[in-house]
Amino acid sequence: MLGAGTLAAHPSTDARGALSNVEGQQGAPAIATNAQGGRRYRAFVKWGPARPEVVEIVARPLTGNMVLMRVEAAQTCYTSVDQVLIEGTPANNATVVGHGGVGIIEAVGPQCMSVRVGDRVILNLHDACGRCYNCLRGRSDKCAAQQGQQQQPIADFQGRPVVGRTGAMAELAITTEEYVTPIFATVSSAEISMLTCVAGCGLGMTMTNVPVEVASDVVIFGAGPVGLSAVMGAKVKGASRIIVVEPIPYRRELALKLGATDVVDPNQYRERKPVKPTANFGGPGTTLFEDALVTHLRDMTRMSFSRPWAGSGRVGPDHILEAVGGDRIRPRVHPQGPDPTGVTVLHQCWELCSEIGSIVTSSVGHPSNAVVQLPAAQWADGSKHHWPGTGGGTNDRRDSPRHVRLMETGQINMKALVGRTYPLAQAREAYQVAADRDVPATVVVPNLT
Ligand SMILES: [Zn+2]
Ligand SMILES: [Zn+2]
Repeated sequence: MLGAGTLAAHPSTDARGALSNVEGQQGAPAIATNAQGGRRYRAFVKWGPARPEVVEIVARPLTGNMVLMRVEAAQTCYTSVDQVLIEGTPANNATVVGHGGVGIIEAVGPQCMSVRVGDRVILNLHDACGRCYNCLRGRSDKCAAQQGQQQQPIADFQGRPVVGRTGAMAELAITTEEYVTPIFATVSSAEISMLTCVAGCGLGMTMTNVPVEVASDVVIFGAGPVGLSAVMGAKVKGASRIIVVEPIPYRRELALKLGATDVVDPNQYRERKPVKPTANFGGPGTTLFEDALVTHLRDMTRMSFSRPWAGSGRVGPDHILEAVGGDRIRPRVHPQGPDPTGVTVLHQCWELCSEIGSIVTSSVGHPSNAVVQLPAAQWADGSKHHWPGTGGGTNDRRDSPRHVRLMETGQINMKALVGRTYPLAQAREAYQVAADRDVPATVVVPNLT
C-alpha cells in the first residue's frame, strides 16, 4: 500500500538542490570526478523474450554529459505492462524497464552543464537536444537526436551490455543531461514521477499545441492517469464543461472529484450501426455511423439556444481529448469499454467533433492491423482539427517545472493518481496492478521498506 511518508514534501530539496543551484549560477557546475564505473546496483531488467527480473548490474563509467541519479520514484506506465507481464514479448537488448522517474543526481560527466550533484531531477520522455531540426522548430517532443540511433550501453549484466536511458526501475538511473530536468520544489518525488509520459501527456493535451479555451466544452475519453490529468488540465484552463467517458466506476467517481462536471459510462451507449449511403454520403456534416454514444454526447453539449445568427450553431463539443488506447491486458475485475481495441473510440472522436472543433489523441496499444476510416470529403476539405500523439506535445524541460508549480499551488492533485507504491523487488506486482487497473497508477519507490 501507499508507503507512509512517501508523498510527504521532499525534505532534501532546499539543502541539496534549490539553494545550491541558485548560488551555483555564478560559477561552473560542480563536477563529480569520482569514477562510477564498476558500481553495482539492482535494476529491473528485460532481455530476450523472458519477463524482466530484478538483477544486479554493473555501471559503466560516466563520460561526456552523462549523469547518474539515485532513483526515488518511478511510475509504471501502462504502455509497458505487456513487456513486463507477458512471456515472449521481445526485447532486442538487455534493457532497464520503464520510462521516467525522479531522483537525486549523484554524479555527472565532465561535460555536463545543466545539472549538478545534489539536484533533484525528473527523467524526460524525450531527450530534447535543442539542436536538431525538430527541436529548433519547437517540436522537442519529436527530437530527432536519438531516432534511429543505437543506444549506448549504460551498464553490464553478466558480460551483456544493458541499455535504457529513460529506464528508472532501478536503484540508479544513468542517462545524459538532455534526458533530465532539474526540479526545485518541495512536492514529493512519487507525485512528480507521474509527470513523465503519463500526467505530462494529459496536461499537455490541454495546454500545449491545442490549448483548451476558457468556458469551452470538453469531452475526455478515458479516465486512466492520462485522462484524469487532462481533466485537471482542462479545469486549470477554465473549461466550463468537462465530460468524461469511462467504463470503470471508481475512475468516473475520481474524475468528478478532480474537476469533471459530468461522467458517462460508454457501456450504456453501445449501439452503433452503419448509415445507409445517400448521394451526399460522407460529405460535410454527415457521419458513416449512427452511434448512440456520439448522439448522447452531442445532446449533452447542445448549446442552450439555437440562433446561429446570435452566436449559436455549434454541434458537438469544442475539444475532444482521447486517452483510451487498446487494452493490452484485460482488467481482472473491472469492466472493459465497448471496444477493447480502442479503435471505435478514435472513430467516435471524429464523428463527435464539431465542424471547427479539435481532437487531440494520445493513446497507444491498438492492434497492428487496425485502420481508422474517415469520410474523404471531411478529411480533405473539412475544418476538424486533429493533433495526434507524442505525449500531448509536452516539452519536458519547459513544461515539467510548470506542472510541478501547479502541484505546489494545489491547482492539480497528483496524489490522487498515485494509488499504491512498491519496493523495487515488487516491480512486477506494481505493473500487474497497473494492468488490472485496480488503482489509477502505481509507483515503484526503490528504497521503500
Ligand atoms: Zn508511458
Ligand atoms: Zn532534438
